[in-house]
Amino acid sequence: MRSVAIDGPSGAGKSTIARFAAKRLGFIYVDTGAIYRAVGLFAKMNNVGSKDSEAVGSLLPKIKIDIRYDESGLQHMILNGEDVSESIRTPEVSIYASDVSAIPSVRAFLLGMQRDLAERYDVIMDGRDIGTVVLPNASVKVFLTASPEARAKRRFLELQAKGTECSYEDVLKDMRYRDENDSSRQIAPLKPASDSVFVDTTDKTLGESIEEVLKIITERLGL
Ligand code: C5P
Repeated sequence: MRSVAIDGPSGAGKSTIARFAAKRLGFIYVDTGAIYRAVGLFAKMNNVGSKDSEAVGSLLPKIKIDIRYDESGLQHMILNGEDVSESIRTPEVSIYASDVSAIPSVRAFLLGMQRDLAERYDVIMDGRDIGTVVLPNASVKVFLTASPEARAKRRFLELQAKGTECSYEDVLKDMRYRDENDSSRQIAPLKPASDSVFVDTTDKTLGESIEEVLKIITERLGL
């Protein structure tokens, strides 16, 4: 099976670019952030502190996560039988996801699931540690980045379009918190794999970013 790893901080454009590229290539798109979000949501629903590793760890046996794809290829997260694809997208769950993702038992719990998908399908998988930990032998690795301000602006517009009340300042603050959390954690921190190709999307349109990433992927896969 062929696999493409796309890592980078939130708001760099990973999911939009990866989804588009997967469709173009006929690969499955796996949004691994959504899996961490489902765990974060479950911790929040159970009133467990997001940094309480013991309490979060003891919830793990009660969590069953399924990933389903609808006819348009959109990934749906099913948490204990319920479709939580929408409810995992709130700013509060973003922070929960970032906190629980620093807990080693959570990462171990989700690792097998991610590798299993890559063994069964041609995948484009996006996240923070795909090229470094989950799929170190990925056929192509891309590290997508952009300035914090550009990323916060995109996320702010996305949330606004969905009708979520928030200010740009709050989104930027949350983003900096998550950047710091995700890059400084002991286990599987956000960092580029040594063999990844860097793409900075700060001054690029979405179309330009997609073209650049697709070019890297098709060249490396010899397509
Ligand atoms: O990508 P997204 O912003 O939805 O991810 C939510 C959180 O999940 C991130 O802030 C990060 O802490 C965590 N995550 C991770 N490893 C991944 C994907 C996401 O730690 N592979």
